[in-house]
Amino acid sequence: MALLAAVVLGLTVAPSAEADQYYTRYCPGGITPCVPDGYHHTYCFNGNWDAYWDRAFVHDAMQRFDHQTNYTIENKACGGSDIDVVWLPFNDPNTGILGAYQCVSVGASGRCRNAWIQLNAAKLTNYTHRRHSACHELGHSAGVSHDAPDNTDCLMSGLRDNWSYNNHHITHMNSGQ
Ligand SMILES: [Zn+2]
Repeated sequence: MALLAAVVLGLTVAPSAEADQYYTRYCPGGITPCVPDGYHHTYCFNGNWDAYWDRAFVHDAMQRFDHQTNYTIENKACGGSDIDVVWLPFNDPNTGILGAYQCVSVGASGRCRNAWIQLNAAKLTNYTHRRHSACHELGHSAGVSHDAPDNTDCLMSGLRDNWSYNNHHITHMNSGQ
């Protein structure tokens, strides 16, 4: 059984060593990273933010995303169904989930027109961890997955401090439209 498992694992890993799951065109649905419908990334805040935390870390993450990529950003009021990222806090100490990205509306182009990013206040208890998770989920909203993260990149999962994208992910984000 051990040998069989090793062979199956080898077959699974080998072809994907150089592959990178980057969804350059179409939104497969669910929580899979999904390319948005343009390079102007609008965002708003929904839910009960003030009860949990200051939202400045979200603006930090959005501004670095703006600086590092070809995307432009705009903070808008929520409403309508074309906001690229709706930021939503939740508060659940009984889950391992720190944050989650979900495309909730796919446009005619097959790209995402409206996504949610949820962040768990109960698990993200300091500013740098919140900012890292904001960077991480925001990366998903621009189509990058967990492939090829390193210590310079916020697509590394977990409680971390880094809030930048590495060149690999920046290249993907800038060629996604
Ligand atoms: Zn992730």
